[in-house]
Amino acid sequence: MRIPVIAGNWKMHTKSAEAISLTEGIKSGLKGIESKEVVLCPPYVYLSVVQEVLKGSSVRVGAQNGYFQPQGAFTGEISFTMLKDIGCACVIIGHSERRQIFKEDNDSINKKIKAALAVGLKPIFCVGELLEERQDNTTERVIRHQVEAGLDEISPDDFTKIIVAYEPVWAIGTGKNATPEQAQEVHLFIRKLLAHLSSEAIAKDVRIIYGGSVKPDNIDLLSAQEDIDGALVGGASLTAESFIKIVNGVNKR
Ligand code: PEP
Repeated sequence: MRIPVIAGNWKMHTKSAEAISLTEGIKSGLKGIESKEVVLCPPYVYLSVVQEVLKGSSVRVGAQNGYFQPQGAFTGEISFTMLKDIGCACVIIGHSERRQIFKEDNDSINKKIKAALAVGLKPIFCVGELLEERQDNTTERVIRHQVEAGLDEISPDDFTKIIVAYEPVWAIGTGKNATPEQAQEVHLFIRKLLAHLSSEAIAKDVRIIYGGSVKPDNIDLLSAQEDIDGALVGGASLTAESFIKIVNGVNKR
């Protein structure tokens, strides 16, 4: 049984007053939502503020990134140990904006996943192809490489602690979501790959969520797909109304 996960990635948006009012709106709109795992990922500086507002709610906080070393002379970085310490439940790792703008490679993503697991944080491990790669029919090759490299030397027993997010890069922030069929095809491919790397039984329990222009009006059909277990939501997580509709729209039949 895979509990659906819906994570809101606020990216570098909001100031403290907005972060508080957005969280208040989401908290009151999602009272009693225990059947789904809902996570808000605000900028680092608002994690504690958001966490405070969420007291008494099952909605949790997560971070958008982290550094794999536990502590030390790494000016400007935040460790997974620190994120765990302040109450984060999970952390986004390998988002395409980190890969593209900050040149994060598969090796550092792999180190981050291992470091997050080591302190008991659930990694939301992002993979996805560029538009050119989809057009060249290399989507599966790209995804295979990202998954295999990201999970290198990670025990299959830990796979179910990881949430994989399939986020086609051409769909992020563009308003062009993958069709439910396109997304399902890649989700199934990822699940089979995970089965090959671990076992069918383990792969069956790994949550694989979709991200890329998820909106209240497309979540129903996306989440109805057999291998889509929720959503990683960017733009539409910045208003309480649309995020709540997406959470409520995640519909596992
Ligand atoms: C994201 O940031 O992970 C994302 C999917 O963004 P958007 O929903 O805006 O496409």
